[in-house]
Amino acid sequence: GGAAEPPPKLVLDLERLAHVPSEKAGPLQRYTATIQSQRGDYNGKVLSIRQDDLRTLAVIYDQSPSVLTEQLISWGVLGADARRAVQAEES
Ligand code: C2E
Ligand code: C2E
Ligand code: C2E
Repeated sequence: GGAAEPPPKLVLDLERLAHVPSEKAGPLQRYTATIQSQRGDYNGKVLSIRQDDLRTLAVIYDQSPSVLTEQLISWGVLGADARRAVQAEES
């Protein structure tokens, strides 16, 4: 891709995440709660996370970053433009 275009930020929709059944979203819900606690960022409707955090979450979910990203898009937790962030990671 074009080097001049920065990858999109990974911005999680915390309201959508709260509505995903915890048997699926539990690890991600705990991970984001930990980041909010570390930042002291409790009242946001969204949370920007690190590219590295998506890789860590993929290990936790035993999936590739791109498969996990598709799952999060299907839940409405990530926007479709997050695909470009993962492609930038894997290229
Ligand atoms: P840290 O990684 O040593 O970062 C210290 C401070 O540097 C952060 O304090 C923040 O003010 C700033 N900082 C570091 N990286 C970034 C960045 O990419 N963007 C921005 N805007 N600021 C950055 P803060 O936010 O109070 O976080 C405290 C600690 O909590 C961090 O220490 C880190 O250990 C952890 N943390 C916070 N947010 C995240 C996250 O999204 N992912 C991970 N893996 N750890 C996080
Ligand atoms: P943006 O990155 O497009 O974020 C738009 C709005 O989404 C933010 O408005 C905030 O209400 C929400 N938001 C995004 N990520 C988070 C998050 O991790 N936690 C919470 N609680 N809310 C989040 P806001 O705060 O008025 O910021 C406006 C713009 O200012 C941001 O647009 C960004 O361009 C810049 N900005 C704010 N904080 C940072 C930062 O830590 N690092 C950098 N590089 N830019 C920042
Ligand atoms: P951002 O603040 O706009 O930062 C964009 C990118 O700049 C980060 O992407 C990272 O590659 C680099 N960067 C910014 N500040 C620092 C820093 O203090 N130390 C280092 N080593 N790199 C830095 P990344 O890591 O993918 O993070 C994406 C977004 O997640 C950040 O956008 C910010 O909104 C949020 N974020 C990540 N880590 C922290 C953190 O520790 N505290 C807070 N408050 N926000 C964070």
